[in-house]
Amino acid sequence: MELLEALNRHWGYESFRPNQEDAMACVMDDRDSVVVLPTGGGKSLCYQAPAVCRSGLAIVISPLISLMKDQVDSLRTSGVPAAFINSSQSDHERRQVADTVRSGKLRLLYIAPERLVQQRTIDFLKSSNVTFFAIDEAHCISEWGHDFRPEYRSLKMLREQFPGVALHAYTATATEQVRADIVRQLGLIDSEMLVGSFDRPNLFFRTERMDDRMAQVREVLRRHKRESGIIYCTSRKAVDELSELLNAQGFRTLPYHAGMDADARSRNQEAFIQESVDTIVATVAFGMGIDKSNVRYVIHCGMPKSLENYQQESGRAGRDGLDADCVLFYSMADYARWKSNIDGASAGNREASHHTLRAMVDYCTGVRCRHRSLVEYFGQDFDSESCNACDVCAGELDVVDDALVIGQKILSGVVRQGQRYGGEYTAMVLKGSRDQRVRGNGHDKLSTWGILEDQPVQTIRDWIEQLVSQDFLLRTGEYSILNIGPRGGDLLRGEVIPTLLRASDSQVRLNKQVARQKTNWEGVDRDLFDELRILRHDLAAQAGVPAYIVFTDETLRQFARIRPSTLAGMRAVHGVGDKRLADYGDAFLACITEYCRLSGTSFDNTEVRVPSSNAGSGVADAENSVSRSSRMADRKPSRQPDDEGRKTASKESSSTKPAAFKLFREGHSVDDVAARLKRAASTVRGYLCEFIDQEGLTDPDPWLSADELSRVEIAIKECESDRLKPIFEKLGGEVSYDTLRIAVCLLRNRAEAVAE
Ligand code: ADP
Repeated sequence: MELLEALNRHWGYESFRPNQEDAMACVMDDRDSVVVLPTGGGKSLCYQAPAVCRSGLAIVISPLISLMKDQVDSLRTSGVPAAFINSSQSDHERRQVADTVRSGKLRLLYIAPERLVQQRTIDFLKSSNVTFFAIDEAHCISEWGHDFRPEYRSLKMLREQFPGVALHAYTATATEQVRADIVRQLGLIDSEMLVGSFDRPNLFFRTERMDDRMAQVREVLRRHKRESGIIYCTSRKAVDELSELLNAQGFRTLPYHAGMDADARSRNQEAFIQESVDTIVATVAFGMGIDKSNVRYVIHCGMPKSLENYQQESGRAGRDGLDADCVLFYSMADYARWKSNIDGASAGNREASHHTLRAMVDYCTGVRCRHRSLVEYFGQDFDSESCNACDVCAGELDVVDDALVIGQKILSGVVRQGQRYGGEYTAMVLKGSRDQRVRGNGHDKLSTWGILEDQPVQTIRDWIEQLVSQDFLLRTGEYSILNIGPRGGDLLRGEVIPTLLRASDSQVRLNKQVARQKTNWEGVDRDLFDELRILRHDLAAQAGVPAYIVFTDETLRQFARIRPSTLAGMRAVHGVGDKRLADYGDAFLACITEYCRLSGTSFDNTEVRVPSSNAGSGVADAENSVSRSSRMADRKPSRQPDDEGRKTASKESSSTKPAAFKLFREGHSVDDVAARLKRAASTVRGYLCEFIDQEGLTDPDPWLSADELSRVEIAIKECESDRLKPIFEKLGGEVSYDTLRIAVCLLRNRAEAVAE
């Protein structure tokens, strides 16, 4: 079988992601390889698809039992014979796996390194027609890596024991040093080194100083209702506290940290994976071994100790390639705590640790594109002018108008003080403090003393950090003494204008964020999506697999956009392969059919705009210039045959929506708008719900009567849910789905207005 054919038949994908084709070619040609791709880059498929296309058995070495199970579940759901051998199994189960290996039917066998190196295993595999070894999380072999595992070192023996069998190493995080170490340790010969971009364009990065933790977290959760997410806190106490507070305010969350007993921990983890709960509040103990692809947001309540940590933790968002949010709330107290940890540790790596921490602080407080900052930190170039996916590039930050003058004042202050003081002290002098130290140094006599007296000292402090991040100032030495930076002269001469931020105006930010969020869901019937998600949860629970393995979020969103009326229509949707269609197609089709019938919604929607989750999904998204997914789509190599048709349709729909909004604003009814715009009433109703959502409307006039709205409100209370089906049934089918849907949108806005 050809690779592309396998990709489509088993996974329902139409094309490769960047670097996948080359990585797969190495496996097909038995050429050793090291593949470095970011989380979500699609490393697994690099060895899974070739394993399907070749005869014989592929051995996958994986460090975590939980990951093995997820991968094997996922492969089986895709119709690929796979198994694992590890300590979680009984002897009987292991014997069964050995029998399947002997039968020659298995394509992939997952195994932990410590088991692999046992002589018995080696002997067994020698008689099992092994075609290649795939070493997952390969950085674990290197002491330079962040997750060194001594048991990985013994993998050295593979070369001697299996001469002629190719070795392929995969990792998301490898510096050049680690890469070289992987090659050396495994004894790779003439290996191909494939390093993808570390950038994750589908992640939207933003940082905010933490001034009202609850309000800030709440705001993110509201934007991600009924979506999966992780909130990281820096201590167990903070985890328990935040989880409780959020639950008390009506959000459903579960805590996770190493202080909880193992049972409770795994229960909560399971609930998150199975999607019985959407949000997990956790310490960094949570995440290793979690492959959940549809995490839509990762919030950090507190600054991690390094960008390596941040990249890894935030990287758990959006593995499926759909847009996801990574929000970091930081405070300088975090910095002080990490700093004192470093100072209290043995001298060894202190300087390196300070450097790492400084980079983290610069990321938080700086005003450089966050994607650029991360990518450059990891040693790669960032080509684009604007990433369009961070608070800086999206223009969310509120910049001050007189930045040049303020910047010059600050730099003059640093010069006048002889470039011998840190940021805290400098801010005090500029503010005009009469602190003993300031007076003792005679700095209250400087012309720059009090030159920014009308600004809060915290704001001055922030500006100093922002000037550092733009190279106008430089921090030196262990005490972070401020010096004039490489671009400082230009600023003092007035040749460049720095970017400095006003203390954040959260409402301005919020509006911009909400507007962006909408593009993600464009065309998706949210209520149908919710129904499908519940069905997915139930089917996954029955099959004992994580929910996202049944179908990804992207596939569900597509179902809820297109609303296919046949199995063939479903098969054409991204992420639907033969086996999944056979196993789950009927159930999802029945759900869509019933929903459309009851709500009078049309099937096979051709007006759909189809965002793509990756460079390889093969669908156009030309109109969606603000969607980050589309930036990946730009790089896609191929298209579906009906692509052009969809593109035309999308143009139409993107121009009718604003027109519909205008008519709603003028008070026209749904039928009226549908007739004027020559659109189906169901499409227009979808627009109306988006309109109500966007404008935060609570008044039913002119679309519903107050009486209808209050009937629905009572039914929602009685059902304790705003899902349409139970409400419809509660009202004895007397209120149509159309009315219900509009009512629910209005009532959600009302509930939010009350919670404010
Ligand atoms: P990694 O191991 O690099 O973190 P995964 O292999 O888990 O990434 O892939 C992340 C997600 O992307 C999975 O849901 C996977 O099925 C999907 N994926 C991988 N390759 C493709 C492709 N060519 N087209 C579409 N989706 C893909």
